[in-house]
Amino acid sequence: MNCKICGAELKKPGELCNNCMNKLMKDQEIRNDKKEYYTFKKTFALGYELLRKIEQIGILILLIALLLSVDIGFWPYTLALGVAYFLWLTLDMLYLRASINRGVCTLYRTKLVYKEGIFRKKVVEIPYSDVEEIYYSVGNMQRVFHMGTIVIKRKTRNILQRNFFIEPVKNIETVFGKIEELLK
Ligand SMILES: [Zn+2]
Repeated sequence: MNCKICGAELKKPGELCNNCMNKLMKDQEIRNDKKEYYTFKKTFALGYELLRKIEQIGILILLIALLLSVDIGFWPYTLALGVAYFLWLTLDMLYLRASINRGVCTLYRTKLVYKEGIFRKKVVEIPYSDVEEIYYSVGNMQRVFHMGTIVIKRKTRNILQRNFFIEPVKNIETVFGKIEELLK
């Protein structure tokens, strides 16, 4: 007689095998884990987000310069273009700020839970038993703003789900130190 779920051999028919029993109890423990140990948030920094759009802004300036070099009489159009872009950029930044400020990660004893989303909430729950590696990286632009990215590598063959990023996070060394302490 074998276990209907995992195929392990059973001593008595109709039994739930030890394997599946343990897994069931572990899953339950993770689900019931409500004690929060540490919380950190994503941080919106206007300068950093604008710097990330530097190529876009550069292209616009080039375009305006090009239009004006063709005919200086195009100035009302280039002005309209500039104003339209500025308005769009403002809206984009407001949306980004609201969205980034809602990115919160909480560490529990057995799992970490990441939440974000303005209109539709997104919740990602990662049990520590699924974590292969956790580290942080700091890009050149991030360094200027004392920001960084938390990278969580999961034990899965699915490449799309393997790496989970939380960024940008301010005071990255301190935040990562706390995470490391908890995961020890
Ligand atoms: Zn089983």
